[in-house]
Amino acid sequence: MSVISQLCRLVLILHVNPAIPPSELVSITTHISPAVDVSPPAFSGHVPDRRAILELTPQELTDWLASIGQPRFRAKQIRKWLIKGRISHFDQMTNLPVELRRQLSEEFRFSSFECSDHLTGSDQTEKLLLKLQDGELVECVLMRDPGRRTVCISTQVGCAMGCIFCASGLLGVKRNLTPAEIFEQVLVLHRLMRADEQITNVVVMGIGEPLANYRALMEALDVLTSEEDFGLGARRITVSTVGLPEKIREFARSGRQFNLAVSLHAPNDELRTEIVPVNRSIGIQDILAAADDFFDATGRRISYEYVLMSGINDQPEHAEQLAALLRGRNAHVNLIPMNGVSELVMTAPGEPATQQFCQILEQWGVPVTVRKRKGADIDAACGQLRLNRQTASPVHTENLPQQVALLAVPVKESDT
Ligand code: SAH
Repeated sequence: MSVISQLCRLVLILHVNPAIPPSELVSITTHISPAVDVSPPAFSGHVPDRRAILELTPQELTDWLASIGQPRFRAKQIRKWLIKGRISHFDQMTNLPVELRRQLSEEFRFSSFECSDHLTGSDQTEKLLLKLQDGELVECVLMRDPGRRTVCISTQVGCAMGCIFCASGLLGVKRNLTPAEIFEQVLVLHRLMRADEQITNVVVMGIGEPLANYRALMEALDVLTSEEDFGLGARRITVSTVGLPEKIREFARSGRQFNLAVSLHAPNDELRTEIVPVNRSIGIQDILAAADDFFDATGRRISYEYVLMSGINDQPEHAEQLAALLRGRNAHVNLIPMNGVSELVMTAPGEPATQQFCQILEQWGVPVTVRKRKGADIDAACGQLRLNRQTASPVHTENLPQQVALLAVPVKESDT
């Protein structure tokens, strides 16, 4: 079945508000065609009371300390506790005077978010649903492998890219995260790990398009890599992007040694535009050229992510086309059997089709791995947990259509 006919079998319904008339129902093709706004608003939400302390720059913290007659070395002590210490309250900053700890808790929030949910999977994957100060929700995940602790973080509230298989974009994008809201996800997971565990890797593969929030992301990653702060090696950080060529080049020019992963998902523009709507205005060749520039500038091999969906992009001819695109490039393919999203009908292919796809790439000399599934029992598909929560809460009809939850349901054979 072609993707088009598959998509025609999907009807998006406004499932949270049964009062919405059928005329408001939109087809998935309408959903995927609008121009994509890659620059959502910055954080303009109402901040109810105190600022989260990590929202302050080191200079701002020093200035505040000076204003209450405290020496500047206190700023270093406080940031060290916040960034490296596995504590959850100002009172635990035991090398600070008690009076200063009291002043800190009166003036600032300890954290940028509250934990709204905390799930642990049977494979010890942990997932947090975090409630930001303006009530928005994001997710972050800790994955455990022997000798490796990988944290997956979000960069936006929602996502504007509209990839048809992804739970994160089903509600559109609300806003960019601030630098502190990005890097504090790593700290929050670090705080809940056992004392003998250390974070070894960070993947920016949670909710949102990281390069659409470029400046805040770089600030956040600089805190994570700075020796003075979290001190993680830049090569242990991977940024995954839908493929925004100009931003990839800016990233390359910045001189940072992070890894780049590009979400390709299709070997030709026709199919990619159906799966990744933002591709309409970009195109695969532009993305590959930008990724090649990234390799030239950094020497870092690019990883191409490819979510395998049964009957859509998993056929042998797709593997052949993909091999033709990537052969001779400094590339590695990461095949990701699609994680089920309860609102969507697409599924992962079976093991034989996945293996066949792999073998074709290998025959052409393109390095490939199949990503292991983590946290399958705790809604670990990107954005699924947030989506479950959002759709359960009331929708403000004045903000339609962006705020509606769009549900793809299969149309019965007789309806087509
Ligand atoms: N916007 C960025 C980063 C967030 S998505 C990007 O597009 O890369 C991170 C990765 O998770 C992407 O490769 C994305 O395609 C993949 N992903 C999203 N939903 C998925 C699902 N349901 N199953 C498997 N992988 C998924």
